[in-house]
Amino acid sequence: MAENPFFAPSTLPYKLPDFAEIREEHYLPAFERGMADQLREVEAIASDPDPATFANTVEALERSGQILSRTVTVFSSVAASDATDRIREIETEIFPKLTKHSDAIRLNRALYERIKQVSASDPEEAWLLEKYRVDFVRAGADLTETEQRRLRELNEELTRIATTFSQNLLKASTASALVVEDAAELDGLSESAVKAIEKDGEYVLPLLNFTNQPALAELTDRRTRRRLYELSVSRAPENFDLAVRLATLRAERAALLGYPDHASYSVADQTAKTTEAVEEMLGKLVGPAVANARREAEALAEQAGFPIEPWDWSFYAEKVRKSRYDFDGAELRPYFELDRVLRDGVFHAAGELYGVTFTERDDLAGYHPDVRVFEVFEADGSPLGLFLFDPYARPTKRGGAWMNNLVDQSHLFGDLPVVMNNLNVTKPSHGPTLLTFDEVTTAFHEFGHALHGLFSDVRFPRVSGTEVPRDFVEYPSQVNEMWATWPSVLANFARHHETDEPVPAELLEKMKAAEKFNQGFATVEYLAAALLDWAWHKLAPGQTVEDAEAFEAAALERAGIAFELVRPRYRTNYFAHIFSSGVGGYSAGYYSYIWSEVLDAESVEWFKENDGLKRENGDHFRSTLLSVGGSMDVMDAFRDFRGRTPRIEPLLERRGLR
Ligand SMILES: [Zn+2]
Repeated sequence: MAENPFFAPSTLPYKLPDFAEIREEHYLPAFERGMADQLREVEAIASDPDPATFANTVEALERSGQILSRTVTVFSSVAASDATDRIREIETEIFPKLTKHSDAIRLNRALYERIKQVSASDPEEAWLLEKYRVDFVRAGADLTETEQRRLRELNEELTRIATTFSQNLLKASTASALVVEDAAELDGLSESAVKAIEKDGEYVLPLLNFTNQPALAELTDRRTRRRLYELSVSRAPENFDLAVRLATLRAERAALLGYPDHASYSVADQTAKTTEAVEEMLGKLVGPAVANARREAEALAEQAGFPIEPWDWSFYAEKVRKSRYDFDGAELRPYFELDRVLRDGVFHAAGELYGVTFTERDDLAGYHPDVRVFEVFEADGSPLGLFLFDPYARPTKRGGAWMNNLVDQSHLFGDLPVVMNNLNVTKPSHGPTLLTFDEVTTAFHEFGHALHGLFSDVRFPRVSGTEVPRDFVEYPSQVNEMWATWPSVLANFARHHETDEPVPAELLEKMKAAEKFNQGFATVEYLAAALLDWAWHKLAPGQTVEDAEAFEAAALERAGIAFELVRPRYRTNYFAHIFSSGVGGYSAGYYSYIWSEVLDAESVEWFKENDGLKRENGDHFRSTLLSVGGSMDVMDAFRDFRGRTPRIEPLLERRGLR
């Protein structure tokens, strides 16, 4: 197996993984050898006869496991974006082993003893050392042998169930797809959209991974809408039981680690720190948000002329947009051509703010022909890193949009970052890819994460780039969304794909006015999901749940967020953020999005106060916040940037909640 490409660092520019060389049969041997190598390295560190120092312990740990980390990075990326049946089998086999492996390191007593003896010589070392100490404690390093044995079992079982949960979901997107034989039932969808889903004389509309399917806004046939909606909310029913198992096992694990519930365990190392802080924040938003949504529902019923049902919401929201604001979202699409959005929008804004430039590297490839590779340069022409872009949906890709790293920036290894963005835009059968405004915003959002990775300027990989608390990580990406509608940026990218005409100013004005409508819906849909996540993870150890659907209903009722017309953005059975492997890291953490939006709203205000899109502002944001990654207390970084502690008012203002 000397030719296994994971065994040696990639020789491509920026150590970009050599996807052309990587085959499915390389993964398992690379995982096995990677784990074995790292265990040997860790054993050597733990049994070192010399006294423990930062260099021979913490830094040595940072250096360990390179084959494994290369393999994990590439495999996770491919498993998310292009998971063939074989990749899914490997996933099922390897994830429990990886959990076991990480336990073998974190529960190594001799190693933990050495970490406790280390002293640091500068703040960056001290910060990393403390991170290691906390990681070990949170992983159970202080527990007795018996407790640790139970912990290992719990972790393995949790991983196994979460993998099944996510695989069920991937299957459900086609298994629960809307299938229609007569195209007339799809009236309202565009001709090209109908054509794109035609298969052997049938029309198959796969489910996206959230409650409210986009087609609901367009389908004129009420029965079709109802069918689609019901398929969406009832998909993967076998996942209800898995969710109960996951939540109860997590509660047991939290108890073992000394916490009253999984939520308390989960937020302890976040910027929120306590469950009370999260509950106080969410509590402030629920009442006003529900009141907003109820007002919106009245307007929709008036528009429809009858009491609406959940599957009617988007359809009549579009109608209200058209009649009240004279705005039709579809009119914008011809102005949002994918390549222009990317180059003249996303890249352009980054250029104005940070001076960076982008060159497409056709000579470099990703794991799929649709992946594009760009080299990123500093203003002075020096290399900064690589950016990979995978915009299209495919049956092997999971839902949503995300950023991930292929190479972490670190001075320790002298590595520049290689980061990537995934979107789920439908690939047209021919012609240009025209985006919705939501998809444009998502492209800017994900690129905000990419910048966080690209600008990382830290010594250690463990705290590189987006390696920050989960309830902070969405913040820089949310800030980057502001440039999508910044007038000079918009004028630069929003041009008609055929005529090159700029998007008419009055259309934009209407869009902005119309955007305020449906904020109640968006906020309630989100909060309901956040509170549902919270309820599952506030389960007391030993508490049993007979009926997951009844639990869900009761939890929403208790939180004051139950509203029959607006279901949670994710119900229990498809709440991948909190129950899936890989992305499931948001358990008791879905609150993070609105939590970090407080910082986002504060920062948008700062940019506006300081004259918006200009280098000086970008450089300040970059040097105080983006470049430090997780190498210091991120709330200190925020204060360095903003000059004060965050206030909630800008967020309430923005969401129309005051
Ligand atoms: Zn994000």
